[in-house]
Amino acid sequence: ETLLHTWGEHIQYEAFVRWLFEMRSSSSRSKSRSFKVAIFSCAPYDREWFDRANEELSSNMEFTYNPEQLNMDTVKLAQGCDAVCTFVNDFAGADVVEALHELGVQMIALRCAGFDRVDLKATERFGITVARVPAYSPYAVGEHAVALMLSLNRHITRSYRNARIGNFSLNGAMIGQTLHGKRVGIIGTGLIGSITARVMKKGFECDVVAYDVFENPKIADPEPQGLAIPYVSLDDLLSTCDFISLHAPLLPSTKHMINFDKLKIMKKGIMIVNTSRGGLIDTKALIQGLKDGTIGGAAMDVVENEAPYFFRNFSTSWITDENIAVLLRMPNVLLTPHLAFFTREALKTISDTSLKSMAGVREGSGPPKQNGKLDCVCLPPKQEPSVQR
Ligand code: NAD
Repeated sequence: ETLLHTWGEHIQYEAFVRWLFEMRSSSSRSKSRSFKVAIFSCAPYDREWFDRANEELSSNMEFTYNPEQLNMDTVKLAQGCDAVCTFVNDFAGADVVEALHELGVQMIALRCAGFDRVDLKATERFGITVARVPAYSPYAVGEHAVALMLSLNRHITRSYRNARIGNFSLNGAMIGQTLHGKRVGIIGTGLIGSITARVMKKGFECDVVAYDVFENPKIADPEPQGLAIPYVSLDDLLSTCDFISLHAPLLPSTKHMINFDKLKIMKKGIMIVNTSRGGLIDTKALIQGLKDGTIGGAAMDVVENEAPYFFRNFSTSWITDENIAVLLRMPNVLLTPHLAFFTREALKTISDTSLKSMAGVREGSGPPKQNGKLDCVCLPPKQEPSVQR
């Protein structure tokens, strides 16, 4: 009332309020300025979950949805974008990274944990931030690994197909093994490997052993804090285990860790489960081992050279990759199309975490931390990222 005691002052007051309002909205506009993101390998479910997260988190991201994989042929789809969002089979080698830089892209937001298809030296050279979602579905992947092991061992998919055509015979290699007490080797005991190890030890009472370049106290420590699972060398694990489950990331040091040399020491009939990355196994060695009986069976959610095929429908086309074509014909091979992560919970975590890290880059603060931990690891790291868990 004091301020408004003359008409002139009232006019000034109105102008002041208008100015304040404009300042406020322009500052909130700049804080959440639109950020253009080209989403590659975008499936309808990605679109649904990213749109939902964008709305729920009021992120004000502007998405373009590209079903195409990111590679040198498609990189131009990122024209005018601040970031690209990619998945497990998109490829960002040095030439793609350089092209992204020339297009003005500041960020690669991986909506997955693995980063083996991004050239981190190139992103460092061109100052492109790389973020990933390190723990979007460890339980989902661990559960899928166990499901694959059970299905492979007890021929669930084959017996289902047989029953559908009225074949109820138990002949034809339908016999399995009792899991209880069998030796199970976990290779890579990070988030997913330790969940799988716990289920196999506590759920099935298997004799679980582990191999990793770093020992995880959750695995090695005595119970009740740890699982009291002993670490052994890779060769010991391969030569004594009935089942193995791979959970190491694909790095130069882990590429083809299962190879022709390892075939020579494997326990005969070993069953292999791989939910990590196809490149951990030399597929030619795997096929030889499956043919000569060294390997009793393989259940894989990932396979070398999956990129041209996975997440697409090839049921009426020709699979030209000879290794994959051979594997698909083998009765003791079970293949799922990289869907171990694929749960509602994981898609929500992927979209929420990706949007938060994009917002962090837009606002200049980088991908956020939660509970003091990196929610989304900003790469490239100085060491192999596995040590950061
Ligand atoms: P993590 O980083 O928590 O664990 C990886 C473990 O591997 C670490 O303990 C690390 O020390 C170990 N390791 C590194 N180098 C090794 C080596 N040379 N030998 C043995 N162990 C080694 O990762 P995570 O969350 O458990 O995920 C594991 C992998 O699973 C990811 O890298 C990714 O490739 C894969 N993954 C697959 C899916 C899917 O849908 N199929 C989903 C998520 C993750």
